[in-house]
Amino acid sequence: MTKQVIEMANELPDMTLKAIGVVRNKVRQKPKSGYNWRGITSDIVVDSSLSEALDDLDEFSHIIVIYWMHRSAATGQVSAKVHPRGKQDRPLVGLFATRSPYRPNPVGKTTVKLLERRGNVLKVEGLDAIDGTPVIDIKPYIPGYDSVDNARAPSWDDHSVSQMLRNIYDRLMACYGPQYWWPAEEPFEVIVGAVLTQSAAWVNVEKAIANLKSARALSPEALRQIPLSEVAALIHPCGYYNAKALKLKSFANWLGEHFSDDLNELFASNVDYLRQQLLSIHGIGPETADSIILYAANKPIFVIDAYTRRIINRIGLAPDGNSYSAYQALFMDNLPADARLFNEYHALLVCLGKNVCRSRPLCHQCCLNNLCNFYTELDSDSKVG
Ligand code: SF4
Repeated sequence: MTKQVIEMANELPDMTLKAIGVVRNKVRQKPKSGYNWRGITSDIVVDSSLSEALDDLDEFSHIIVIYWMHRSAATGQVSAKVHPRGKQDRPLVGLFATRSPYRPNPVGKTTVKLLERRGNVLKVEGLDAIDGTPVIDIKPYIPGYDSVDNARAPSWDDHSVSQMLRNIYDRLMACYGPQYWWPAEEPFEVIVGAVLTQSAAWVNVEKAIANLKSARALSPEALRQIPLSEVAALIHPCGYYNAKALKLKSFANWLGEHFSDDLNELFASNVDYLRQQLLSIHGIGPETADSIILYAANKPIFVIDAYTRRIINRIGLAPDGNSYSAYQALFMDNLPADARLFNEYHALLVCLGKNVCRSRPLCHQCCLNNLCNFYTELDSDSKVG
């Protein structure tokens, strides 16, 4: 730091702040780190002389509350380096790279849901401030203006996307255990299953595959030889059987023509080239191609399906844009490229999507509910289930 900058710091003015209101809630003592504030309801009682200044604020769903962490201020404790969230297993980092309450000006800032305004009282949800905390300012939360694209955070930050994705995985694994995907005896069966499962329940895919097996039709050569109408009849249980029969025959023809039916040769390509090849075949879209790459070729690529999109959107991690590649990048940019991890992760999301995070979700029994925006925003009756 130059001498000039140090001297400038000595000239910084003192300031006097006056609270505009106070927080009232049931949390009387500072809770332990990691306390779940999301469901806490608070009243912000604003100085009645400022009541009119609150007019029109309730047209916003969320507000930003800026408050003075008076208990932390009272300790006078300030260090230039701290462990994030007070966790000793995290590296020591600069104070201003953390949200530590022990800072020169112990100002807290939280975006909360505005439930109601009654005169000079704002009822909010999710404010992480104890009873009696002085409030120094209130601002509306403006979507777009108050959120940024492509934000980055270090791995030691609990709130970083990669940490969040890790937390989701750990919870799903603890809740459901390994899923042992893909349920197939050999890679060609995985490929056939990946084609047949499009818009079909897995139980029906199993019936179709059983039919193919008993007709000795579960090989590229057999699929090429058997007439289209016969293949369609065998896979009838999984729906769209004419279109899917054509897709299976197209794949079998392509594999014979380009790789002499040798899947090992096909899978020897790198992920990008393999994907490009698969996408060139009639009826193979991104989800099917990626399922083949991950579950048949055992190469690291993240499969995105409708369950994954729904869960990620509800949790509040939806990427910009609604494209398959944006969702895929969310996982692949924030997790190590590990085929085993991607295999289990996708299977676990499907398990959650089928059983709990349905179109009408069973949030009260969901192992992700205290990470999930959708759940946070439910009213308390709905949370009980
Ligand atoms: S809490 Fe509800 S919405 Fe969120 S992931 Fe779980 S089931 Fe889905």
